[in-house]
Parts: sequence; C-alpha cells; structure tokens
Amino acid sequence: MSRFDTYFLMKTTDVPEYVKEKGYVPKDAALTVKEIGDGNLNYVFRVVDAAAGKSVIVKQAGEALRISAEMHVSTDRNRIESEILQIEWKYAPGLVPKIFGYDTVMCACVMEDLSDHQLMRYALMRHETFPRFAEDISTFMVNTLLKTTDVAMEHKAKKDQVKRFINPELCEITEDLVLTEPYNDCNHRNLVFPKNAEFVRKELYADEALHLEIAKIKFDFMNNAQALIHGDLHTGSIFVKPDSTRVFDPEFAFYGPMGYDIGNVVANLIFAWDNGWAAGESAFCDWALTTIQEMLDLFKQKFLACFDECVTDRMAKTPGFKEWYLSSIMADTAAYAGTELIRRTVGMAQVKDVTTIEDPEKRAYAERLNILCAKDYILHRQAFQQGSDFVEAVKRAAKAAKAAD
Ligand code: ADP
Ligand code: MG
Repeated sequence: MSRFDTYFLMKTTDVPEYVKEKGYVPKDAALTVKEIGDGNLNYVFRVVDAAAGKSVIVKQAGEALRISAEMHVSTDRNRIESEILQIEWKYAPGLVPKIFGYDTVMCACVMEDLSDHQLMRYALMRHETFPRFAEDISTFMVNTLLKTTDVAMEHKAKKDQVKRFINPELCEITEDLVLTEPYNDCNHRNLVFPKNAEFVRKELYADEALHLEIAKIKFDFMNNAQALIHGDLHTGSIFVKPDSTRVFDPEFAFYGPMGYDIGNVVANLIFAWDNGWAAGESAFCDWALTTIQEMLDLFKQKFLACFDECVTDRMAKTPGFKEWYLSSIMADTAAYAGTELIRRTVGMAQVKDVTTIEDPEKRAYAERLNILCAKDYILHRQAFQQGSDFVEAVKRAAKAAKAAD
C-alpha cells in the first residue's frame, strides 16, 4: 500500500516522496521542491536534485480551476495532455517537453524541466525578439497538424484518435469563453475596460452580422474534427530560448480545426505588438508583424511540401485539392485569430501584454485595435490567404482605432 494509490492533491512536501517512490530519482537524493504553477488549472512542481545536477517537473491536475473554485473539470485532462505531448514529440521532436511518465491515479505527469527557457509571453513583454520562432512554430504546426489529419492517416486509426481525445469539458470552456460570452456577456463575467464600454457594446454586443459569423465559426469549432490541435496555443503555452522553441500545456487538445491553433499564435503576436506599441518599441513591433507574416508564409510552404510527402488518401491527391484545403485553413486561421483577439480583450481570461499597459488611453486604443482587427479577420476571413494579408489588417486597424476614439 502506498499513499499515492488514491488521488489527493499534493503539497510541496509530498512531492519528494512521490518522485522517489515512482523511481524518477534515487531514494537517497536530497531534493528541493517549489510550486511554480501560474496557470489556471494545475499545480506544477519543480523538483531539483542539486547534487546530481538534475531536475524534473511534476504537473498535477486539481479538481477545481485555480481561478474559480466553482468551476470543475475532470482530472483526466492531464492524461490527455501527456499523451498529446508524446504524440507531438513523435511528429515534432524537440519542439515539446519530453514526457517521462504519467500516473493515472494521481493525475500527475512527470516531464523534462525547461526552466532554462523563458515563457514567451513574458519575454515578449520585455520586447525580446526570437529569430527562430517563425521557423520553429511553423514546423511544429505543419507536423503536428497535417500529419494527424485524414490526408495522412489511415481513416480508422484517425477516428480512433478522435475518440481517444474527445475533450468535452475543456472544449466547453472554449465554446463558452471564446465563442459565446465575448459577444453577449451572458454569464456576466466579461471584463470590459471602462473607457471602451460603449465601443464594446456597439462593436460586439449589438453587431448581429458579427454574431451570425461567430455562430458559424462556433459550429465549425465543434464539428470539424480535422486535426489533433493543441487547443490553447498562446504565448503562455510556449517556452523560448534564442536557440530553442518548446510548445507545452496542450490540455485543451482535441480533434478540431487547424486554424484554431494557427490563429491563436497570430492573435498573441498582436498582443505582443500592442505592448510594444505602448512602450514605443518600434523595432520590436516590426519584428512582431514580420514574424506573423513569415510564420504564415512558412506554414503554407511547408504544408504544401509535407502534403506531397505524407498524403495517403487517394482523393486528396486530386490536383487542386491541397490548394483548396490550405485556402480553407487560412480562412479558419483568420476567423480564430479574430475570436482570440476579442475574447482576450473583453472576456474573462485576459492577457498581461495588454492589461499591464499603464496609460489608460493607450490601453483603450490597443483594445479597440484588437477588436477592429478581429472583426476584419472574422467578417472577411476568405480574403486572408497569405502572411501579408494578416499584417495589412493590423495596420488598417491601427488607423481605424484612432478614428474610433
Ligand atoms: P496550466 O495547465 O495550469 O496552465 P502550465 O502547463 O501552463 O499549467 O504550467 C504553469 C507554469 O508552470 C508555466 O507557466 C511554467 O512557468 C511552469 N512549467 C510548466 N511546465 C514546465 C516545464 N516542463 N518546465 C519548466 N516549467 C514549467
Ligand atoms: Mg498554462
């Protein structure tokens, strides 16, 4: 009998015994443990064996969300997360943390410690630039997304994966917080910056043409089991170093539209732009826009090459199909870049890039820009086909947000 045979939420003091009992470190190791989680859902412990110069991360799922004790989600989400990271490692080696093991009883995953990296969101808020990012993230997206579709996979094996990674509770969070509440505040938990209250009412709550497009996008999100997506690919789910990029935290993963992942990265680079703009960091802002453009164009280029290498479906080989398919992915990318821009600006879960802008005028401007750019992406999504199209919309919104003051 071990006390880890039944689930309980570990405290820092429980973790040394846990990693020793499970064989991740020698029984006589002198360990220090620190809880470093800053996310909404889980507890993350960094375990250091200083004498051996080794460390691991233990991530355990709690039963309630850290942001709200009333919101419960299944602890099974960490099983999904560790299995996904292992699949992603297979398709995109070196671009996610290595998983050492998952414990179905304690709902805990033990993985590679990436503390020598920085969280991308915070590095971007210091206006640091990452020259490898467009290259790495486009590789990550093409390999993890295209290779898990019906284009490349045997169709029964793909359907098995759809079943294995059905993720109703985390999808419900997205359906509510991303694809419903920002447009009507039906659960009274939107956070609208007071200076923009009237702007938000008119541009989001009262725009029925927008609501119709969001309804279509929401049903696409729920029904388009296209690829095994990360589901929460923002800059707080990416670690960076000048020579390395690692995507982590895929607990929202399920079979959904690829454009959701790609669009999330686009939107979060725009939040980085907002922060850089407020600080007068024009070289950083140029880098953010160039990175959006390069990332999308590299994605397209690598997608077309990878398609030819991995396509197995006979009908998908029909001339013209891959271009049509890619075109629909770019339109989805615009749609979901739009929904991410809006939900992070007025919804319950916001981003520090924007909320830490101290000057209220500048923050209000950045938020209007996000909303106007988002509406352009959503309402004209078929027209967004290459990197420069996405960047031009940011520039248009930057002008329009001034006029809307
Ligand atoms: P949540 O699911 O609760 O959002 P995350 O996976 O985002 O949890 O982890 C929360 C924080 O813990 C991260 O922002 C990061 O600082 C730290 N963390 C998570 N995984 C690792 C890792 N493999 N190496 C180092 N730090 C990590
Ligand atoms: Mg997180």
